[in-house]
Amino acid sequence: MRLLDGRSMAADIGRAVVDDVERLAATGVTPTLAVVLPTVDEAARSYVRVIERSAAKVGVACAVHELSGDPAQLIDTVDRLAGDPSVHGMIVQTPLPGALTAAEVGARVPVGKDVDGMNPLSLGQLALGLPAFAPATAAAVLEILTRAEVPLAGARACVIGRSSVVGKPAALLLLAENATVTVCHSRTKDLAAVAHEADIVVAAVGRPKMVGSGYVRPGAVVIDVGTNWTDAGLVGDVDADAVASVAGALTPVPGGVGPVTTMLLLRNTVRAAGA
Ligand code: NAP
Repeated sequence: MRLLDGRSMAADIGRAVVDDVERLAATGVTPTLAVVLPTVDEAARSYVRVIERSAAKVGVACAVHELSGDPAQLIDTVDRLAGDPSVHGMIVQTPLPGALTAAEVGARVPVGKDVDGMNPLSLGQLALGLPAFAPATAAAVLEILTRAEVPLAGARACVIGRSSVVGKPAALLLLAENATVTVCHSRTKDLAAVAHEADIVVAAVGRPKMVGSGYVRPGAVVIDVGTNWTDAGLVGDVDADAVASVAGALTPVPGGVGPVTTMLLLRNTVRAAGA
């Protein structure tokens, strides 16, 4: 079984990002990512620290705006950053305060700065095959498969999860590469049997170790998007020990999709800055 090492892939992407940052610097541009933390939330804060560290390594400026949980303050901040020409990329972390939805807030992020595909227009563009930033996690799934040289055209792919941030955009990206895509969710019947048909299984469920060996056909490539904090620490949606004896390739958790996701946010920021 091949372990698909997201950390080394992220390092490779990072080297290309550094080249782009240097080219932009020569034109007087410092690519800048604004990260909005709408509420005081420890989990979101620790993810933002990961982004800050990675940004510092590649030379992307990262400005964190930690807010108090006031919906009006969030809207004001997003609108201000949207209009600030020194900000090239924007992301807004969850949870959101009050009754605000991700679609409402995302709609205020200009598509050109929408480096994590939060604006509903970005997802629409993606669905139509038009240029837009895909949500970074979904893009990371494709990036890993591509870097691992997994054949996609004609492959049967099963995406477990249909959220707007991971499952749906990952399915659209796989479809754009001519995979034959099945999208599964909590109402799917005989889920294990459906997944077992696939050459590629993408697990984006949010249930620790749900995907066992019965979901994976021998030799299939398994991408584990899950990040679940349990008493045993961070675990994926895939039961890696069980699946390792069946799968042809698997992303570890941690060290798989996560690091690639973070680096793609930064690559998108550099692209948004004109690289
Ligand atoms: P989400 O919004 O909660 O969506 C979960 C999806 O899984 C839903 O479509 C849901 O179906 C489906 N589902 C839930 N229970 C199921 C079951 N028993 N059988 C089949 N499908 C089931 O979660 P998300 O935001 O997409 O995130 C998914 C996972 O990825 C989480 O572990 C999250 O932490 C992780 N994640 C990782 C990264 C990263 O960078 N590595 C980034 C984002 C998210 P319904 O639609 O029918 O409810």
